[in-house]
Amino acid sequence: MFGAEKGYAAAHRTSPLQFYGGFASGVHPDLSLPSVPGSSMVWSGMTNRRRVALTFDDGPLPDWTPRVLAALARHHVPATFFLKGINVLRHGAIHRDSVGTHELGNHTWDHPDLARLDYGECIDQLERTSAIMQKVYGTRPTLFRPPYGHLAGSSVLAAAEQRLTTVLWSTQTNENRFEDNPVGIVASVRKAAQPGSIILCHDTGPSNRLVTIDNLDAIITGLLADGFAFSTVSELCGLTGERGHRVGGVS
Ligand SMILES: [Zn+2]
Repeated sequence: MFGAEKGYAAAHRTSPLQFYGGFASGVHPDLSLPSVPGSSMVWSGMTNRRRVALTFDDGPLPDWTPRVLAALARHHVPATFFLKGINVLRHGAIHRDSVGTHELGNHTWDHPDLARLDYGECIDQLERTSAIMQKVYGTRPTLFRPPYGHLAGSSVLAAAEQRLTTVLWSTQTNENRFEDNPVGIVASVRKAAQPGSIILCHDTGPSNRLVTIDNLDAIITGLLADGFAFSTVSELCGLTGERGHRVGGVS
């Protein structure tokens, strides 16, 4: 999958970024004023309680996401999933029962490098994804995670105009370090976790990412043993939806 994503990115415009109205600039193409005064971005949450948020990017996909959902259900813990719109179109039913338990965020339509897309293309990526999520799940996302963690002025402005909080991460599961020692990833995540950590995981990708999913039960029980509770990103960060409702809602 990662190779496919690279192929997609390569197919996109990769000309040098330009100043003053060129690609990735944080102004409207017609130079009109932004409709909002700013936007918010988080990469970790409140540290006053011993809580973390597990996040899973790039799904939903049939061979991966149900395994994650089953592990979360076994331990009665919530997570936050950042969804590709094209996967929601094809496999959205996988998360049919997630609303109200887990939080579902926007991860663009098909995972381009937004830092290289202009404002209109960024809006298209975000709006199409929010629209299909609203259609399938009955609620629009309030969170957005940029593919690869790449942002530019155009994507920051687009997220703001779409009333989306941009969510990065403070720690991640580094599967490629543990291909020869899969259980080592459990100790690695436990060592890295801190109150407020937003932990990046994936529910699709190259096969080595299965290291996390294969060990997800042990990661969860390990963090519980370390005194951590699990929250959605919005809860961890004290966010509520722009439209006055929480997405997620598990405490
Ligand atoms: Zn991604």
